Amino acid sequence: MSWSQDVQQGIRTARDLPRLVGNPQAGADSKKLTKIFKVRAPKSYIDLVNPSDPHDPIAAQFFPDERELRFLSGELPDPIGDKRWEKAPRLVHRYPDRVLLFPTFQCAVYCRYCFRKERINDEGEGFSKAAIASALSYIASQPELREVILSGGDPWTLSDRQLKQLRIELEKISHLRLLRVHTRVPVVLPRRVTSDLVDALRGRLMVCVVMHFNHPREITNDAIVACQRLREGGFMLLNQTVLLRGVNDDETTLKTLMQELVYSLGAKPYYLHHCDKTRGIGHFRTTIEHGTTLMRSLRGHISGVCVPNYMLDLPGGDGKVPLGPSYVERHSGQEWGFRTYDGKTHTYVEEPT
Ligand SMILES: *Cc1c(COP(=O)(O)O)cnc(C)c1O
Ligand code: SF4
Repeated sequence: MSWSQDVQQGIRTARDLPRLVGNPQAGADSKKLTKIFKVRAPKSYIDLVNPSDPHDPIAAQFFPDERELRFLSGELPDPIGDKRWEKAPRLVHRYPDRVLLFPTFQCAVYCRYCFRKERINDEGEGFSKAAIASALSYIASQPELREVILSGGDPWTLSDRQLKQLRIELEKISHLRLLRVHTRVPVVLPRRVTSDLVDALRGRLMVCVVMHFNHPREITNDAIVACQRLREGGFMLLNQTVLLRGVNDDETTLKTLMQELVYSLGAKPYYLHHCDKTRGIGHFRTTIEHGTTLMRSLRGHISGVCVPNYMLDLPGGDGKVPLGPSYVERHSGQEWGFRTYDGKTHTYVEEPT
């Protein structure tokens, strides 16, 4: 099956839902649900679902759920404050040396927990040169910028030709050094990662691909081949995971995921994101305390190469903060009390300088 067949035979609109997933939930309420957030998933990703498991961790990520209609009081339409830092259409400039650029608002899969779901649902447009023209001028006018992060939407829903054009436009901006791509395509549509795609992005800029694997079962043979291609292309490979209740919020799943990202894919676990205050995703959200406990079960117990940073993106656009856990238990003057990874205490005394 080619990647385009994979897309065609998958779920492309809400109408495909009952045909492909013989789930009773796909009945009456699916219209209301898919209005809240559209639905899409390639066939090979749907095939990873175990139909006899009502709590299947793959299905939970793309299959609409009634609980999405429940908005909690503190939840927000724009949870991480993209709009506050929008300096041009489709461009967010929050940090000094890097910007987010949204070449498209379309994705290969629509993840039920997506933090940008309302914008992706409302705007929904794909790529056009005109839509990002003023974003490109803005980037060119800000000499402190070093990095452009293609996000969205999924930038790898663009054609090779469009990606190449975009890469060439960015290369012309001489202060840029790094091109980062945030994508779920290597997870849900790994056959889309062709050598032509790699060639489209290779050029003057260092390329860093940040993928988005959430569960060890997503690490398929096709994903392994895709990542091999990306590494052979000379791209830096990282992964970000969203901590999701019922999907990956247990020690064994998380540990296996982080290890296999490194062992099977050669990808460094970069961030483990605490669930944002997106509306209608309360059923996915864990407590920070639970997340911190899970992080303690990783640090020191598995290779440091496999340990991500646990991050909270503060509501309203104040940016990301690392959530720890902290291994400093007390500090006074030159004396520091640490907790070791295996739970012992250690007192460290600094030498006077
Ligand atoms: C998350 C984010 C980035 C990237 O942050 P890093 O810590 O460099 O990964 C950049 N800009 C915005 C607006 C972001 O939300
Ligand atoms: S691929 Fe990314 S942007 Fe698209 S729905 Fe999933 S999390 Fe959101």
